[in-house]
Amino acid sequence: MEELSVNGFERVVVDRDPAGTARSIIAVHDTRLGPALGGVRMRPYPSEDDAVAECLSLARAMTVKAAAAGLDLGGGWSIIPASEKTPERLLAHGRAIATFGGRFIPVNDVGTDQADLRKIGEVTSPVCAQDDPSPWTALGVAAGIKACARFSGHPDLKGLRIGVQGAGHVGSALVRLLVEDGADVVVSDVIEDRATSLATETGATVADADTLLTSELDVLAPCALGEVITPETVGGLRCRIIAGGANNLLASPELAEDLRERRIVYAPDFCVNSGGVIFLQEQILGHTDESAHKRVLAVEGVIADLLARAESRGVTTTKAAHDLAQARLEASTGIQGPTASSSEKPAVP
Ligand code: NAD
Repeated sequence: MEELSVNGFERVVVDRDPAGTARSIIAVHDTRLGPALGGVRMRPYPSEDDAVAECLSLARAMTVKAAAAGLDLGGGWSIIPASEKTPERLLAHGRAIATFGGRFIPVNDVGTDQADLRKIGEVTSPVCAQDDPSPWTALGVAAGIKACARFSGHPDLKGLRIGVQGAGHVGSALVRLLVEDGADVVVSDVIEDRATSLATETGATVADADTLLTSELDVLAPCALGEVITPETVGGLRCRIIAGGANNLLASPELAEDLRERRIVYAPDFCVNSGGVIFLQEQILGHTDESAHKRVLAVEGVIADLLARAESRGVTTTKAAHDLAQARLEASTGIQGPTASSSEKPAVP
């Protein structure tokens, strides 16, 4: 197992198979507020460097997400850079996670599901494998979209044209909620069957995966992979609001300023998609689903507050959210959190 020394991170490891190929990348960014919760993402990458870069970026975002949501959790992430899922790969991933001694709690993300987390949980603990957090993430995103709509002068979602990119775990649950709220929903997925069957079930319309981004929309809700907003795509956007489930939506932080200049209301991804993490903390604490429901719906107030703060200070919503999270991290006294199993920090490479 190779320990990488990465500035600002508590611990980053690359675990290799006997042939030397990376089979697991795990990054724990910050555990000042509690143990690091983070996804297990499984997909192929062009290179190991690309996989490490994405892992670091997602781990950092998890720290800010938990801090901004007021949770006693830290930020981390893990990646299995492969396309073929095997029990051996999942178990190897679990063994690598076990070396973090409970300071990294894995949860499903793109390319993994509850069954995979249970497999990983055969060799490490704790893991979040009981319930899929995706519907809770979607509930929080829907609440955040409502806050953005209100901020833009719409009392509710009725008749708003909302484009959902990705009909996976989060996207499909979000489409159902938005349709229930009376929105005019269009959905796209690179796996067209997913979008088509969701549209048939809900009454949404299918959009072409290549053109959704540049469609005339009240709200764009990206719920697929990250880096959707890039210097190349930002100029072609024709939406008024961006609020979705996808992590790391902006290819670079400066793009938040581009969105502000274009008067596109942007709900920072790491805040608007915090419903799943909120739910997981509620579960870890042994609270009821009713309590989780209430806390996740509070995302609406969090986003409304951020939009108002950003406007009054003349800064981007991303900056307002980071400042909020940073203040919490700086005020923290060290390791807390519901499942911190040790009072010792992991060795910093
Ligand atoms: P998923 O794998 O279930 O769904 C992603 C879907 O997006 C897939 O159906 C895929 O085919 C589709 N897709 C990929 N590229 C696309 C493109 N260019 N256009 C249209 N569709 C495309 O993943 P998920 O669990 O729903 O997560 C979606 C996003 O939300 C990810 O960025 C994830 O990190 C983020 N997120 C998820 C959760 C959660 O609770 N699952 C929580 C917070 C953030």
